[in-house]
Amino acid sequence: MRILKSATFIDPAMRFAKSAAIWAYEGFPMPDSEAYSMREKECAKCPHWDPAAFGAYGKCKICGCSKLKLKFKTESCPMGKW
Ligand code: SF4
Repeated sequence: MRILKSATFIDPAMRFAKSAAIWAYEGFPMPDSEAYSMREKECAKCPHWDPAAFGAYGKCKICGCSKLKLKFKTESCPMGKW
């Protein structure tokens, strides 16, 4: 059971580290305000979005990412919504 709890914590951390590394490698590109707003709206109305997670910062239940992902231009929605 202890191993499962660790894996549950480590997987999102590893995914975030990989996403951040790619984002940094590409020069920290961010979406413009229109693209960011579109991402935010798609997640807000998506059934996979958990707005209460991460202290009400929000989280995608598919990829496990927080709202911070929306600021990484190098990221995309796992369901192809943005
Ligand atoms: S990233 Fe995609 S699947 Fe996840 S909550 Fe946002 S719109 Fe839904």
